[in-house]
Amino acid sequence: MSLWSKFLDLLFPPRCAFCGALLDGEDGVCPACEAALRGLEGPGLRALDFGPCAAAFRYEGVVRQGVHGLKFRGRRQSAAVFARYMAQAAAEQLAGAFDAVTFVPVSEQRLRQRGYDQSRLLSEAMAALWDTQAEAVLEKIRDNPAQSGLSSAEERRENVRGAYRVKAGARVAGRRFLLVDDVVTTGSTMGACAAALRSAGAAGVAGCALASPGVSSPGRQGE
Ligand SMILES: [Zn+2]
Repeated sequence: MSLWSKFLDLLFPPRCAFCGALLDGEDGVCPACEAALRGLEGPGLRALDFGPCAAAFRYEGVVRQGVHGLKFRGRRQSAAVFARYMAQAAAEQLAGAFDAVTFVPVSEQRLRQRGYDQSRLLSEAMAALWDTQAEAVLEKIRDNPAQSGLSSAEERRENVRGAYRVKAGARVAGRRFLLVDDVVTTGSTMGACAAALRSAGAAGVAGCALASPGVSSPGRQGE
């Protein structure tokens, strides 16, 4: 370990990406979460309106805790750890379905508040594992109310309609995109992004999220 990384460890001791506990030499995940994650393995490939969507875990317990840390508590370092699981899920469930990596962007306003775009961090870390780069081809043009406050699939679809567009000059036509987000619930946010990509000529869209509700959760119905 370099002197510099020892110094950084003193300032920012490594913490578990999921529960935030101080780590004792483990690589990003504490032993308790490591064990809990084995019971939260993903619900498998979901067929959403726009295409297939892979998720690494069910959105419960320490996974939910980890997503909250990344989105609301400034734990941006968690993204690199989550990306390992997501890259594995994408490789296992979506191999050959995409040739470019992009993400569901947050609005400019949210970016200013949070200081970073969590799905961008996830997609960049995933792409780095594949020796490629994530491309920021989408932008959010309307700051709609949070999807988490809406219950029905119809309300969620309506809430994000027209909220995303492809950036001017982005290279989209004829390419197949892996669309990355932190959590996929009804799939309406990813669906709105996929619609924008499709209308710009994308040849395909497959989704990948860290987490998705289990079969019995509300929000899974009505897809
Ligand atoms: Zn933990």
